[in-house]
Formats: sequence, C-alpha cells, structure tokens
Amino acid sequence: MRRLAALLIACFALIILITVVHVPSAEAAGNSKVWIVTWDYRTVYSGKAFAESDNKITYEAPLTIHFENVTSMRVRFLDGNGKVVGGQDRNYVLTTGRGSVSYSCSVPAGSRPGTYKVRIDAKNGKKSSTYTFTWKVTKYVYSATPSASMQQKINYLKNKLPNGKYWNHGVKGVTTVYLDNGRTTTISSSRCNSWSHKGENFRSSSATCNYSGNGYQCHGFAMILAEYTWGGMPRESSKTYDRSVVDRLEPGDVVRYLNDEHTIFVLRVEKDTVYFAECNNGGTCKINWNGKISVSSLKKTFTYCYRYSMR
Ligand SMILES: [Zn+2]
Repeated sequence: MRRLAALLIACFALIILITVVHVPSAEAAGNSKVWIVTWDYRTVYSGKAFAESDNKITYEAPLTIHFENVTSMRVRFLDGNGKVVGGQDRNYVLTTGRGSVSYSCSVPAGSRPGTYKVRIDAKNGKKSSTYTFTWKVTKYVYSATPSASMQQKINYLKNKLPNGKYWNHGVKGVTTVYLDNGRTTTISSSRCNSWSHKGENFRSSSATCNYSGNGYQCHGFAMILAEYTWGGMPRESSKTYDRSVVDRLEPGDVVRYLNDEHTIFVLRVEKDTVYFAECNNGGTCKINWNGKISVSSLKKTFTYCYRYSMR
C-alpha cells in the first residue's frame, strides 16, 4: 500500500516537472505578446502606466518583463523627448520564445518632469512589434510642517501677539504683554505715527516702534518670535547667506529678504509656498500672521536666514 502511494506521488511529480520544463520552440507561431509585472505585483499591458514619482531622488523601478512568441527584444528607457535615459538600452536574445526576464529602469534625481517610457521592440523571427509602458515624473514639491511642540509655541505667540494688532508703544490702546519665557513687550490697537517711520526716526527715544534682538519693526518682531520658539535669540552662528536655503525652509526660520529691507518668521512651507508671520508690512508696525510667498519669489530678493536647525 505504501509503495503504491509512493509510486503515485513519484508519477505526479514527474508530470508536474514535465509541465514546468516544457519549452516551446524559439520560432513560435502566433503573434508576440509582451507585458510587465511591477515590483508590487501589478500586471501592466502596453500603453498603460506602471509608475509615478517626483524628481527629488533617483527612483528605481524593478520590473519583470513577460513575453510569448518573442525571439529577441530591445528594451529602452526613454524620456519625454524620446531620448535614452542614462544609457538604459538593452538587448535580449530569448532562446525559449516564452518566459520572463528581470529588468530595472531608473529616473535620476533632478530629471525633467514628463512622461517617461519603457519601450520594448520585440521580434518573432522577422516580425517586429512595439510595446510601451509609461512612468510619469512630476516636479518635487517641498513642504515642511511644524512639530507638535513648535505648533504649540506658534499658537501661544499668535494668541499673545494677535493678528491685526500693532507691535509698538507710545500710542493709544497699548497693552503690556508678558511672555512665559520672561520677555516683556507691548502691543496696541493703533498704528505707529508716520514720524516714527520716516528715515532713521525709529531710533529716537520718542519713536513709537518697538525694538528687540538688535532690530526694530519687522526685524525685532521676527526676533521675538524666534527667541520664544528657539529658546534664545538667534546667534550669528545660525546665520546663512546661502540662497539655496530657501528651497528647504523650516518652521522657526527667520528670513531677511527684499534686498535687506524686510524680515519674516517662517510658520510652515506647503507645496513651494512659504507661510509666515511678520510685522510692519506696509509701514505701520501691524502684526500679520497670514503672510505667504512663493519659494521662487522669496529666493529672488533673499538676503540671509537664521536657521532654526542651526540654533
Ligand atoms: Zn512702527
């Protein structure tokens, strides 16, 4: 009984083995077929997309190319202009006519956004067929959101130094503000007098503009916010004049721009838009928590930045 069972199992194994190793002739009859299976096991047919990515880093796409009735194939990876990307041009001679090969293509960091293609020219004897599979590459868009503790500090400051109030003194409706880091300052419901804002008048003891962290008006205000969120006034060692820093600003950064005319405090960055708090945009020392500017505009007149990450 046991011997019979063993024999049956052996027969089964043989049948399975014959099925697996069966190889059709190389010059197969019928039309060629080519499709791909992605790294995450999706089957993708010609004309369809198999990937989408941004161009921040180099992305690799490991694929399996399946074929039937194909004796040789040329596989190229092309950019939006139909040019081979980084020498990714390979030829395969396929003795089995049917099966699969492992293949990997990549889009290098910083590549031009557009539709890239895996183009497969498959031959079955003299007959040739073309198959294409697309990969959409988009521009990398930078975002930076505050940590929970940074957001808490921002909310606190927003509450103590509210939007629409004026960061000044010596005018009507002044309130003294005590921050829990020990800093005392003032806000009011009245704009600065125009005399304060003329030329260097804000340096006079009778001027109404506030001062903090080695700066008046916009600069002083940004420094007060930085002092609170950083745990101390920004030092010169945190200062950078490198314009490329604008591409990766973070909550807490203090940016001087408009060719050394204005200072802002970065709240967050969303899809290449910088959101910030500021004071004195318009020359009245008014507080604004809803400032926004594109990364490219800010870059144009960038002067320097106090980096929160270098505090
Ligand atoms: Zn003022």
